[in-house]
Amino acid sequence: MLHSGLAQRALRCHLWVTMMVFDLICANKHTFEAWFKDSKAFDGLRRKGQVQCPACGDDKVEKALMAPNISTSKKQAKAAKESVVAAEAMQMLAKMQQHVEENCDYVGKEFAEEARKIHYGETDKRDIYGEATNAEAKELHDEGVDFTAIPWTQQNDS
Ligand SMILES: [Zn+2]
Repeated sequence: MLHSGLAQRALRCHLWVTMMVFDLICANKHTFEAWFKDSKAFDGLRRKGQVQCPACGDDKVEKALMAPNISTSKKQAKAAKESVVAAEAMQMLAKMQQHVEENCDYVGKEFAEEARKIHYGETDKRDIYGEATNAEAKELHDEGVDFTAIPWTQQNDS
């Protein structure tokens, strides 16, 4: 199989972790979206003040769903606009995902092990993708293994 353009590239491992998108709102009522691994990851980062509003930098953010008292018409208009932005982002992600699926070998939960083997020359160099835990990703990073983390959408084959 010939993957033109990819053949000459240095090793690039693709790491994907399942991520969730949250609608968030800051104390100044700005709404925005952010990606987190799960609710727990969001809560942990928020407690450390690491989740900040992109508009004003405020770190007192809440999940937007927990603030049902915002006037509905204004919220709906804003939600409509944001869903367009989200759709564009999802489209871009879908393209990236398709590229990865077509050009890389899926190794599932063996990603960390395979990436390490490739890095240390124990197996043939190739592009792979799969899952890894945060701890595994950190270890790989510390060892100098080159990979990219991308949000991944679950697809149903129907
Ligand atoms: Zn704000």
